[in-house]
Amino acid sequence: MAKKHSKLPEKICVVCGRPFTWREKWEKVWGEVKYCSDRCRSNRGGKAADKGGGS
Ligand SMILES: [Zn+2]
Repeated sequence: MAKKHSKLPEKICVVCGRPFTWREKWEKVWGEVKYCSDRCRSNRGGKAADKGGGS
């Protein structure tokens, strides 16, 4: 138990504005990650107040 808990990096999601923490699946693309989730990624560029618009 002598191992230090290194704090994981965080970013702010550009869509929902919430902080999210580094994940293993992002280890190779962390520099390009801008969204906390796939949901936010699909919401980018869309109007936040406009739901169910579809394509
Ligand atoms: Zn988000």
